[in-house]
Amino acid sequence: MARLIDAGPGCPTPTPLRGTAVAEETGLAYDESVKAKTDHLYPLVSDFITPMEWPAVAPLVAAINDLKAEKNAVILAHNYMTPDIFRLVGDFRGDSLQLAREAANVDADIIVQAGVHFMAETSKILAPSKTVLISSLEAGCSLASSITGQDVRLIKERYPNYPVVTYVNTTADVKAECHITCTSSNAAQVVEAIAKEWNSDTVILVPDQYLAKNVAAQTDIRIMTWPGACEVHELFSADDVEALREAHPGVVILAHPECPPDVLESADFAGSTAALANYVKDESPAKVVLLTECSMSDNVAAENPGVDFVRPCNLCPHMKRITLENILECLTEMQHEVTIEESVRVKAKAAIDAMLALPKMENPLAFETGLAPMEIEVISPS
Ligand code: SF4
Repeated sequence: MARLIDAGPGCPTPTPLRGTAVAEETGLAYDESVKAKTDHLYPLVSDFITPMEWPAVAPLVAAINDLKAEKNAVILAHNYMTPDIFRLVGDFRGDSLQLAREAANVDADIIVQAGVHFMAETSKILAPSKTVLISSLEAGCSLASSITGQDVRLIKERYPNYPVVTYVNTTADVKAECHITCTSSNAAQVVEAIAKEWNSDTVILVPDQYLAKNVAAQTDIRIMTWPGACEVHELFSADDVEALREAHPGVVILAHPECPPDVLESADFAGSTAALANYVKDESPAKVVLLTECSMSDNVAAENPGVDFVRPCNLCPHMKRITLENILECLTEMQHEVTIEESVRVKAKAAIDAMLALPKMENPLAFETGLAPMEIEVISPS
């Protein structure tokens, strides 16, 4: 069951280096110059960073923003980043699809991916002439590590007549073996488009079995999948939804489609992180809960001050490996650079380009809620 936090903004996101001594140890003082550069930013995070902490955070923010300007670098910040990264140093913010589109078009020499490794690979695939950096090589993903390129080759051997769609939460090797990528914003659109192109009634969607089951409930296409799961979203259950409704009468429950199908069945709305953020902005529910990674609630709450958020706190340990401290180190030392073998990159890019070539949707697709979970075939890895 997910851990529920009923009061107070934010979750106990690890910020272990936030003593004021840190800034001093790194030679960064909270001086007049830093104040001039950062005073206007504090209101953006005042719900999450106390006035006592700010003198430790502000010098890091100022130093990162100075280095970005000096090196012509941009930071692509995923919705699951903590608010200090998301709001204070992120130049482009959004879900995987939005960040992939930005990476393809951004006018900068250096991209720093404030997200996990597969996202940095996606940026490198789309922007090969740019230097792509990630501040922690340990920022992985349970979905990305659940399948390999060799697994996909075996799937294609076993089912040569079916197109293989990969969720973007996979390595470049896996993307290179698949016919098209998708995100949670466009998965149903991609599945239907590739089925039509292949004239096939069946599509293989890897590696997230829950996303695949949730997409299967939205379409007439037969879907087969792989036994991968997001270690954050699979923790949510229909029992959580029931407990939330009991504890917070009238709360509107929004779920990410990486959650198990019975969660979507009992939620009020479901969609990608971008769809969830749009819903809160457009509908302004009095009280809402987002069944997704916990920093997402912090970031959406900051932009919707009139909405009361109940915050289930399932945090992604991989996303939380990215900190202001290691972003500064990454830009200072120009580490860790993400590289991809060119033959793999070209094939992976073809799969991403196939997705980006589909008509751009005005808004991310919502998943219909209230649908009975569908059993679909899960391919055995052996
Ligand atoms: S939240 Fe889940 S899908 Fe996203 S990076 Fe973490 S483990 Fe991967």
